[in-house]
Amino acid sequence: MALPTTLTLEIVTPDRALAREEVDEVVVPGSEGELGILPGHTPLLATLKVGELWYRQGRETHHLSVAFGFVEVLPDRVTILAHVAERAQDIDIERAERARRRAEERLEKPSAQTDLDFERARIAMMKALIRLQVASRARTRV
Ligand code: ATP
Repeated sequence: MALPTTLTLEIVTPDRALAREEVDEVVVPGSEGELGILPGHTPLLATLKVGELWYRQGRETHHLSVAFGFVEVLPDRVTILAHVAERAQDIDIERAERARRRAEERLEKPSAQTDLDFERARIAMMKALIRLQVASRARTRV
């Protein structure tokens, strides 16, 4: 059987569908590390961490921030079921900056916090930093 030459990429969150496109390559923030996926990849199921997802169509790359969820990989298809995701150009930079500052304040006084509060602040910080990083890619091309 011939190997597929492209991947059908689908990205959905509980709120909306963000992508359903033919792509050449996808890089996903897996919980155990970055997963680079090309057509013909071995099937796998993995969980997602807070991170940057990007995909390539020809010479054009597209960047999204994602937080938690699952990725299913088949030889001709990648399905992302993300808890939260935004495309780079849709990220509100001022909102992410405010979230970063709030998380920083919460992390700076850990003595008054439970481990759970600290973990929540750490995740909020990671989400804010990834949003700021991904937003800065909105105007770049490889
Ligand atoms: P905030 O504290 O600013 O609300 P958050 O990390 O608590 O951020 P989430 O719970 O992850 O927000 O997301 C709630 C909704 O808001 C999701 O639909 C998410 O895509 C959207 N969202 C959160 N932050 C931003 C942002 N900076 N720009 C655009 N959309 C955002």
